[in-house]
Amino acid sequence: MPIMIDKKRCPQNHVCPAVRVCPVNALMQKGYQAPVVNQERCIQCNKCVNYCPMEAIERI
Ligand code: SF4
Repeated sequence: MPIMIDKKRCPQNHVCPAVRVCPVNALMQKGYQAPVVNQERCIQCNKCVNYCPMEAIERI
């Protein structure tokens, strides 16, 4: 089950703090855009899902 970003929930107006939470650097962000999950790197640990206060990162 992949981790996905819900762009409708992500305000896309700040540096995403969840990027630093990922233990394998699977989250990437350009500027203030919604982060993107590198599915090949992601180990589906759920840390970012549990961390995002906007609930913009979810397991599909
Ligand atoms: S689920 Fe874990 S490994 Fe995957 S992007 Fe989130 S923090 Fe990184």
